[in-house]
Amino acid sequence: MMDIMIIGGGPAGLSAAVYAARARLSFVVSEKGFAGGGAISSTERVDNYPGLLGISGYELGEKFREHAVKLGAEIVSSEAVGIKHFADGFSTLLANGDSISSKTVIYAAGTSRRRLEVDGGELPGVSYCATCDGAFYKHKTVAVIGGGDTALSEALYLSRIAARLYLIHRRAEFRANADLTEQVKSTSNIELVLNAQLKRVLGKASVSGVDITIGNRAEKLVVDGVFAAIGSTPNTKPLHGMADLDEHGYIVADENGKTSLGGFFAAGDVRAVSMRQVITACSDGARCVDSAEKYLHILPQ
Ligand SMILES: Cc1cc2nc3c(=O)[nH]c(=O)nc-3n(C[C@H](O)[C@H](O)[C@H](O)COP(=O)(O)OP(=O)(O)OC[C@H]3O[C@@H](n4cnc5c(N)ncnc54)[C@H](O)[C@@H]3O)c2cc1C
Repeated sequence: MMDIMIIGGGPAGLSAAVYAARARLSFVVSEKGFAGGGAISSTERVDNYPGLLGISGYELGEKFREHAVKLGAEIVSSEAVGIKHFADGFSTLLANGDSISSKTVIYAAGTSRRRLEVDGGELPGVSYCATCDGAFYKHKTVAVIGGGDTALSEALYLSRIAARLYLIHRRAEFRANADLTEQVKSTSNIELVLNAQLKRVLGKASVSGVDITIGNRAEKLVVDGVFAAIGSTPNTKPLHGMADLDEHGYIVADENGKTSLGGFFAAGDVRAVSMRQVITACSDGARCVDSAEKYLHILPQ
């Protein structure tokens, strides 16, 4: 039986792996995606991770992964689909059919993009990743929906590929940080469409436009692509009520990662916290290993 099962190979999970390896604990990391590195891998540039000014998100994710692997981490590219709690520990079922027993779990599965829905239905033809799909829109016109950090950083990225970009936001002010807001406002091919609601994405085989309303006024914008960045939802499906969640579905855990269930710790963006960044995720991963180590010491041998 492993000391720790780490679920999620993003900054939180990989930091936990680094600390677990250094503490000589036995552990394995389950990562849903092929490469790991987490959400940061999809951003073009990271300017707020100390010591690595201007690094690309992909490279930062790679560095985290390489570091963990060099220290001996085993990363299994398979999603955790269910976790069971027993008197002596946990059993994690992976999508590849394997079950891994562990005395503790560090849950660091992060968040997923909230899907854009209109009248209860998900909209077809909408992209959720500018770095993945941006290249298809060279010299074209695109719309980005959202007003937070992710929407604005994706708009800036796409503004360097597309000829023209509409940034559609339902409020008058952006929630994004001041630096991003200033950059967006001074980018000549970004047109701000504020106080606007998306009603429909037009087109059959490919996107041809969007219907929006601004106040009571209905408008149609001709665009070739739509990118949505309207918030995130926590990846807590495998938990099945195992630990307490807040009203938005994030795991309630203290600053040491302790949840309502002994031996089950939560790290990073999946926690109910006010700040979700790489640096806070890394800190959480380290603290969870410290908490797990203390918990292992009090377990009957
Ligand atoms: C576009 C964008 C730009 C950003 N820019 C910045 C920035 O400049 N600076 C900054 O500090 N932060 C930035 N962030 C936020 C930062 O990426 C996150 O705060 C950070 O990645 C959180 O790390 P995490 O490990 O908690 O979660 P994640 O990075 O989301 O990692 C979770 C991992 O778990 C995996 N996973 C999910 N479910 C399962 C499962 N059931 N089984 C196994 N694996 C699973 C996922 O595939 C993922 O790899 C940005 C985010 C985005 C989207």
